Amino acid sequence: MSKRDYYEVLGVSKSASKDEIKKAYRKLALKYHTDKNPGDSSAEEKFKEAAEAYEVLSNEDKKRKYDQFGHSGLGGSGGFGGGGMTMEDIFSSFGDIFGGFGFGGGGSRRGGRRVNKGTNLRVKVKLTLEEVAKGTEKKIKVKKLVTCDACDGSGAEPGSSPVTCPSCNGSGQVTRVTNTFLGQMQTSSTCPTCNGQGTKINNYCRKCAGEGTMKGEEVLNIKIPAGVAAGMQMNVSGKGNAARRGGINGDLHVLIDEEEQTDLIRDENDLIYNLFLTIPEVVLGSTVQIPTLDGKVKIKIDAGTQPGKILRLRGKGLPDVNGYRSGDLLVHVNVWIPKSISKDEKKIMEKLQDSQNFEAKPSNEDKNFIKRMRSYFE
Ligand SMILES: [Zn+2]
Ligand SMILES: [Zn+2]
Repeated sequence: MSKRDYYEVLGVSKSASKDEIKKAYRKLALKYHTDKNPGDSSAEEKFKEAAEAYEVLSNEDKKRKYDQFGHSGLGGSGGFGGGGMTMEDIFSSFGDIFGGFGFGGGGSRRGGRRVNKGTNLRVKVKLTLEEVAKGTEKKIKVKKLVTCDACDGSGAEPGSSPVTCPSCNGSGQVTRVTNTFLGQMQTSSTCPTCNGQGTKINNYCRKCAGEGTMKGEEVLNIKIPAGVAAGMQMNVSGKGNAARRGGINGDLHVLIDEEEQTDLIRDENDLIYNLFLTIPEVVLGSTVQIPTLDGKVKIKIDAGTQPGKILRLRGKGLPDVNGYRSGDLLVHVNVWIPKSISKDEKKIMEKLQDSQNFEAKPSNEDKNFIKRMRSYFE
């Protein structure tokens, strides 16, 4: 969709004065105001269009850019908003940098002058359990705003440089004295000529239209310590979007996520493994292999081991991100009951049914164990 010329929107000539622009806008704003045109979406569109045109043409800095570059000089409609990208299951987003029109955005003050701050970015990294256990380094490509390489972030056409703003003499603030019935009142506000920057650019850099930033990407190596968990966020200072005209870069937030686990289930720093044994294995005792994060290990199953028993392998869980004691690997014993059996097997089972040794005779400890189990999983 092509955008209408702002002068055309307001119905004024390019040489219109500030007052004429203001008057033209007021007229349109009154005409198309939503209060007067309830439910009329074309009126709402026109109202917004006029507001946008006025926002630009009433601001000296923006007006000059618009005069020099047209809509493309304002960045708002460049088709660069929102999107993200992926690489190794990692996404980054541009955030809301171009959410609206014009040049809003974050900033802070330093002695009256406005210092631009780039927006923060967020990437998500998905880790395997092994990566969580040992810590890892992830190479991620982040699409973001980088410093314009033509003007080195100043926003001024190469060969020229920003000059001290004549309206505020570089302070970024203007003081206005108004007469009220209480006497004279002094108010200071952000300098409208330079938007509080203290400098003014006469020749905008062609490459970035005076923004000092451009689309780019950076490949970063991000060290992730051992023991992190899904939902944790690491902050990488200064690796977010570059700021407008050489301000302070935003930050990069790295959000930790975990791959879905099947064999070893994470419970904070502990790991749970569901071991399924056969009836003969628990009756006769056996040695079985179980997976750990350091490869397979053999464990001994005593004859007469009850299902529900938890075998604790100390320190075989995950390390603690704050350096406290590592978790354990809890091997949860289950007994696999066959779903169909042969005639011969049936005969054996029937024989066992009559045997005294196969009567259920739980000790108090066995009964208590069920209670302990519940408290563990609750
Ligand atoms: Zn530039
Ligand atoms: Zn100024």
